[in-house]
Amino acid sequence: MDYKIALVKGDGIGPEIVDSAVKVLGRVGEKFGHSFNYTDILAGGGAIDATGEPLPKESIDLCLESDAVILGAVGGPKWDTLPGHLRPERALLGLRSAMGLYANIRPAVLYEALLSECPLKDSIACEGIDMVIVRELTGGIYFGERGRGEGPMGPEAYDTERYSVTEIARIGRIAFETAMKRKKRLVSVDKANVLESSRLWRETMHMLSADYPEVEYSDMLVDNAAMQLIRKPLQFDVIVTSNMFGDILSDEASMLTGSIGLLPSASIGSGKLGMYEPIHGSAPDIAGKNAANPIATVLSAAMMLRYSLGLEEEAVCIERAVSRVLKDGHRTADIMGDSKAAPLSTTEMTEKIIENI
Ligand code: NAD
Repeated sequence: MDYKIALVKGDGIGPEIVDSAVKVLGRVGEKFGHSFNYTDILAGGGAIDATGEPLPKESIDLCLESDAVILGAVGGPKWDTLPGHLRPERALLGLRSAMGLYANIRPAVLYEALLSECPLKDSIACEGIDMVIVRELTGGIYFGERGRGEGPMGPEAYDTERYSVTEIARIGRIAFETAMKRKKRLVSVDKANVLESSRLWRETMHMLSADYPEVEYSDMLVDNAAMQLIRKPLQFDVIVTSNMFGDILSDEASMLTGSIGLLPSASIGSGKLGMYEPIHGSAPDIAGKNAANPIATVLSAAMMLRYSLGLEEEAVCIERAVSRVLKDGHRTADIMGDSKAAPLSTTEMTEKIIENI
């Protein structure tokens, strides 16, 4: 089969890690008889430099014409002082919104070979951490009305959290369906003791739970969830939550697995088109040094094969290769632990993964 893939390499380490994913996909294509045709898309800081805006319309159109989008990361200190609407990160929000990608699926798996990288005590049983966070992606406070003004106490600013039943129900269905394919356990995280939007979130999730009697469903307040992730992470299988809570909790969960450089994500909507990206940022501190861990992006490509292209066997093949490479003791700098051995570079780690496919 032939597939059209849009590549948003982005800024910082983005181009290096996207190149790794492309090389790995090349090997998968050879093995399984697929061809992946790529289009480079301008978005983020590079787009600001070239066109004056973070997400040119042409970039959106090209993404919409593709079967899937792979994104490295956008942003960096060079663009940090620009006003909000011109920041590189606007490209992410713009793409997610234009492509209707309302669900972000973030697995957090601690590989057996990396148990020592889990920052929690052994007694908390890091072994077995394997959860998925389903985060709402195109609504809530990140997209709500915002502004600045003059209030009774002087200058002030506000952002608004607003959710409709439709938005909550569609992310809820993805979460329940995800739970059905796993251990059939779902926790919905909200702040229903304070926020009206969370109360609607909770009511809607309860309504949906009636359609999934096999799923063991529960609610948890976000402050408690932040604590429980550290206290007893093994209680979680699938978590569903709003845009902002998901943003924060998924980064917290990622640290349980040892490195942010390991974790992929899929942003999906109602159709097949999706965007696949590592959960980390553009890591300006290591950009251009061939030192980034490419695994998060390579595993994002595997999620693309699974969710957008329906190539399950090929996706599993990449995931097994990554697992084998880690089991064989190969490490990039971010997952070296106390080892005194020389870390693998981005390109060396990529080669190891390819050798295992
Ligand atoms: P970051 O994720 O870029 O980096 C945090 C730390 O993790 C750094 O020490 C970095 O070196 C390390 N790290 C990240 N990815 C790694 C990898 N693959 N291998 C090894 N180490 C890795 O977060 P930050 O420093 O807060 O943000 C840097 C820039 O990225 C900012 O401009 C931010 O806005 C942007 N950002 C973009 C995205 C995105 O494009 N999706 C997400 C988060 C942050």
